[in-house]
Amino acid sequence: ATLALTGCGSGRDGDSDSGSAGSAKGFAADSLIGVALPSKTSENWVLAGDLFTNGLKEAGFKSDVQYAGASTTVADQQAQITAMVTKGAKVIVIGATDAAQLSTQVAAAHAAGAKVIAYDRLITGTPDLDYYVAFDNFKVGQLQGQALLDGMKAKKPNGPYNIELFSGSPDDNNAGVFFNGAMSVLKPEIDKGNVVVASKQTDVKQTAIQGWKAEGAQARMDQLLTSTYGGNKALDGVLSPNDTLARAIITSIKGAGKPIPVVTGQDSEVESVKSIMAGEQYMTINKDTRNLVKQTIAMIQALQKGDKPEINDTKSYNNGSKVVDTYLLPPVAVTKANAAEAYANDPKLGPLTK
Ligand code: BGC
Repeated sequence: ATLALTGCGSGRDGDSDSGSAGSAKGFAADSLIGVALPSKTSENWVLAGDLFTNGLKEAGFKSDVQYAGASTTVADQQAQITAMVTKGAKVIVIGATDAAQLSTQVAAAHAAGAKVIAYDRLITGTPDLDYYVAFDNFKVGQLQGQALLDGMKAKKPNGPYNIELFSGSPDDNNAGVFFNGAMSVLKPEIDKGNVVVASKQTDVKQTAIQGWKAEGAQARMDQLLTSTYGGNKALDGVLSPNDTLARAIITSIKGAGKPIPVVTGQDSEVESVKSIMAGEQYMTINKDTRNLVKQTIAMIQALQKGDKPEINDTKSYNNGSKVVDTYLLPPVAVTKANAAEAYANDPKLGPLTK
């Protein structure tokens, strides 16, 4: 993985004096910027919408911020992007609801002269995507895998440890990257026999939860408990790709009357941070949405001036058509031990006490 990170540019260095003339390759400073987000499958998406609306306004742009609906997500998002192109958006920021289903819309945006930035989730199968901005997704997985091992070891110094694996929605490119990052840490331990996936379900297809739905994770955990963890068979850990799924997995395990194993997460959702402080969920990942939105707006401001946005990765994200110029921010692993420090400046979580 990649790590030469320079922090998250302020994106607020006031260029309002460029008026509406724009530069040769740039565009007017009050142009329309489109932001197409997926459905609200986790708190970070809810936050991102508000942050984009306010941040783009503050930067002098007009904005059109849309979410895909809860069920007809792909068609909704395709129509929203098409409408943004028609309205003349100069940059379209997309948090893809399905990575592989947007190439037509991205091509149309390009043909109309707009730049396209994939936000948080890569868009695949298109040469027309200009930039990708995200937290380092492989690193997220590595941090989850390592925390799972550390957490189990803290409870029980020696293995073998029984674990189960969950991954996110197959239409989200991030899901596989998170999983591969985690498996890069877990696989050597599995190969040694120190960690055992007792159900034998180790393939990303078997572990995937469609649509990142809590009920899907809860149902799969219920099934695993029945099929594999009858009697007193110990379950030591569960790799969960995010907080929403982690809480569903914990609900299932509690319902079955089993002790809560070490469960990973991601997103620093309010309920999961509470659960961590209460000693239930073991860890989460802090991906501060404020920084990701700021970085995206800094990219848009560079494009407005006709400059090339700052990128720090030109090798990690091949979308099947090209290697996409990328800016990656660093994710941070959070357990009860460092939660108070990690969220000291996060208004959403308020002051935490250990
Ligand atoms: C995001 C995660 C989030 C998941 C479900 C992923 O693409 O990177 O932060 O938990 O979507 O919303």
